[in-house]
Amino acid sequence: MENLLKIRDLHVEYHTEDDVVRAVNGLNLDLYKGETLGLVGETGAGKTTTALSVMNLLPDRLGFITKGEIQLGDLDVLHASPSQLREMRGAEVSMIFQDPMTSLNPTLTIGEQIAEVLEIHAKEDKGDSASGRNPGKSGKSMRADQIGRRVDEILELVGLPPARKNEYPHQFSGGMKQRVVIAMALACEPRLLLADEPTTALDVTIQAQVLEMMRRLKEELGTAMLLITHDLGVVAETCDRVAIMYAGEIIEIGSVEDIFKGEGNHPYTEGLFGSIPDMTKSERRLHPIDGLMPDPTQLPEGCPFAPRCGKAADQCRSRKPAEVLHGTHMVKCHLWK
Ligand code: SF4
Repeated sequence: MENLLKIRDLHVEYHTEDDVVRAVNGLNLDLYKGETLGLVGETGAGKTTTALSVMNLLPDRLGFITKGEIQLGDLDVLHASPSQLREMRGAEVSMIFQDPMTSLNPTLTIGEQIAEVLEIHAKEDKGDSASGRNPGKSGKSMRADQIGRRVDEILELVGLPPARKNEYPHQFSGGMKQRVVIAMALACEPRLLLADEPTTALDVTIQAQVLEMMRRLKEELGTAMLLITHDLGVVAETCDRVAIMYAGEIIEIGSVEDIFKGEGNHPYTEGLFGSIPDMTKSERRLHPIDGLMPDPTQLPEGCPFAPRCGKAADQCRSRKPAEVLHGTHMVKCHLWK
């Protein structure tokens, strides 16, 4: 499979007045064309920071990429010029956030908001006729009538009636608003979609509809997706591969089968599975993972999971485990040989 996104040894810090928060610590990740990779972990594991780093959108004067490499196709994201980054965002890679209300402008109709994305990228794409992926990349600005037609097409694609394009966000339900956000993200047919907990704020029935729609669109458009979630059920239904993140590192990665077959998992992944109810067993109690993730301002010297791991040995507290690969399955644990 062709590699679309390559991240190597990524380190990201947030600098506060008193402390340095080490949010991402030596992260390695590959994402292939057209695949869906689930990025799973607790709140604070560094999932959103990883996605924001790919967009090179860390908060100004607060978030810093101190080391590493991010390659999106041919583009070296960390050394790209501001104009290359503007071109990349939306046209090559788009991001969907958890709460659709914070992504939509309440003073513009949804049609105006989708059209705005197309207009901006049509202007930026002038002179780039290489890919021919959408009318905006034809080397010319799109005319108003072309934009209008494209807005209708995109709304239909996400299951919204084009007749409602002149309505404002407050006139839509939560699930419909998230469809609008997805429509905006897909307007320029990006090669990569970063979806940060896209269904967490929605009712369970609406979640299923939105996930089904995202899966269909991904197949129709051939878009690769990094799906950030803490919901293993969503991962099982939606993803091709799964990466488990803990304290700013990928500690396990593999196909859905590798992760869900329940053999040879990282102790943290075993703990995640132990924390969710198993309808096939009669056990009444869940087995949550004891303790909390380490303080990112004072990470332990060895394995970051050692303070919570029932299998920890002396070497775990003093030496970081290396990545061990068995076929498609990688685990970062001293127990793996
Ligand atoms: Fe547990 Fe040691 Fe493996 Fe870390 S390296 S997960 S502490 S056994």
